[in-house]
Amino acid sequence: MKFNRKDAIHRKAIWEIYNKKCQYCNSKIDLYDGKLKMQVDHIISKDVNKSPQKLKNAIAMHNLPENFDIESLSNAIPSCPICNNKKK
Ligand SMILES: [Zn+2]
Repeated sequence: MKFNRKDAIHRKAIWEIYNKKCQYCNSKIDLYDGKLKMQVDHIISKDVNKSPQKLKNAIAMHNLPENFDIESLSNAIPSCPICNNKKK
């Protein structure tokens, strides 16, 4: 299934799959509002999709199956705004 970060159902799904917590700092995050409103991050950055070799390396680095789809729900993880900003 292709993940759509604007789709409320998809957002709710990853929020629940990961126990409503930021995957970096373990803080409880909110789905809709509040200071710690969930942001969606990706295990593998979508940039690597442009290069098949980079994609292959990233998949190996994260111990993911070879046919891992970076457009799928499995590549989406919840993050709090603080951690998401730190990465940039
Ligand atoms: Zn966090």
